[in-house]
Amino acid sequence: MFKTLLSILLSFLLLQGCFSPAEEHMEVKAPNIVVFLVDDMGWQDTSVPFYDSITAFNERYKTPAMELLASQGMKFTQAYASAVCSPTRISLMTGMNAARHRVTNWTLHKNQPTDAKHEFLQFPTWNMNGMTNELTVENTVRATPLPQILHNAGYYAIHVGKAHFGANQTPGEDPTHLGFDVNIAGHAAGAPASYYGENNYGNIDQTQTTWAVPGLEKYHGSKVFLSEALTREAIYQMDTAINRNQPFFLYMAHYAVHAPIQADSTYLKAYLEMGLDPKEAAYASLIEGMDKSLGDIMSFLAKKKIEDNTIILFMSDNGGLSASARGGIPHTHNAPLNSGKGSSYEGGIREPMIVKWPGVVKGGSVQKQPVIIEDFFTSIAEMAGASLDSISQKLDGVSFIPLLKGSPYSGLNRPLFWHFPNLWGAKGPGIGSYSAVRFGNWKLIYFHEDRHVELYNIAMDIGEKHNLAENEKDKVAELSAILGTYLRKVEAQMPFDTRVNRLVPFPDER
Ligand code: CA
Repeated sequence: MFKTLLSILLSFLLLQGCFSPAEEHMEVKAPNIVVFLVDDMGWQDTSVPFYDSITAFNERYKTPAMELLASQGMKFTQAYASAVCSPTRISLMTGMNAARHRVTNWTLHKNQPTDAKHEFLQFPTWNMNGMTNELTVENTVRATPLPQILHNAGYYAIHVGKAHFGANQTPGEDPTHLGFDVNIAGHAAGAPASYYGENNYGNIDQTQTTWAVPGLEKYHGSKVFLSEALTREAIYQMDTAINRNQPFFLYMAHYAVHAPIQADSTYLKAYLEMGLDPKEAAYASLIEGMDKSLGDIMSFLAKKKIEDNTIILFMSDNGGLSASARGGIPHTHNAPLNSGKGSSYEGGIREPMIVKWPGVVKGGSVQKQPVIIEDFFTSIAEMAGASLDSISQKLDGVSFIPLLKGSPYSGLNRPLFWHFPNLWGAKGPGIGSYSAVRFGNWKLIYFHEDRHVELYNIAMDIGEKHNLAENEKDKVAELSAILGTYLRKVEAQMPFDTRVNRLVPFPDER
């Protein structure tokens, strides 16, 4: 009798369509997706070798979780981003190159550019307010953001850590306006006032409110380091998604290892005993704390028995802040690459990237094909099976999924572009106002200030020490034309030269 009643009840529920969309998604087993984005982490700031030999920096840093991830996934040795924070993050969220989305420098206050002053270059009115989804706000790029696309596809979209998508007092400062279901600790600022719970992550002095990390009140006054607090909250949110029977998109964007370089005492001692300078040791402790977070997330996925249906993408948003950029005692180097954060040279833009996708990616594999940050957008949407038919922006990103599958693929043999008609402010090699293109092994950089170009064969000269522009004039002409054509196509902004009272010309018109 009871059995019959149950059967009738079940039939009734089925007929009434009482099963939620989330449960339907569970049936097709949409993969969970974790983007683990580190801030300002250099290409060599890990024990995983990304160069063709093990460097002294690989031996200095301890990142066992990254080693495990690389052993289970694919390591990309030529993965690129922009040279500063916001352009990279907007490209990831929109699939657009910085030249097209125009958030070319880092954002903070509404309608206030962050460019340093230049003697004779005036910088364009770039999208200094960041991004938005639907609302019309001046100086913003309007696009359909990746979390919105994933949310619409049935995902529980989780933002944890640094956002830095939009200026304060604009909608884009709040990740929940960009499609995230939940926001932990993200706002307009691109750095934490403090990593220390004892300092309430900067929420003490009213004058620090711009940089004070929002939320996380339950850790205030505790000894919980910021990276650890963010990890605990990320795990709580993944658990929430599991309980809701929804696949999740976790955007785990650590504030680490951006300045202030504050030591994580759990890991500091070993680096001091290694003989490192206190600042270098503090930086190494930030790196190891970030890696512990990755390890904890991987352990959680294993414990919940969902690791086989979870994709993890590891990336950094720009090169490591090198000694030459800020002066004083170095805390990171990027060698054998030249320069660091803010630079057009490889040290500014080449990132440690790893992708784990059980059942698709061969563990321990290495991929040398160059890819760039806007490719993440297209690839992640495809991983989720989400449609891009109704998005509002034109895409530059190309899916790297064929590479993950190990297939021979020519679709990514395209030029990659960087465009920075701005001035970051720090001094160092390759830091200035520039446009650049990489095509095959060749890279051309066009410096706006004096219109000179530099040409490097990256395969032969990874440190960009030998400028071949004078010897390879045909190659300079070819790459200048490719770069100029692209910049015109996307209506890229150029600085204005007050000496000659005109815009800086495109590289093939100089
Ligand atoms: Ca950064």
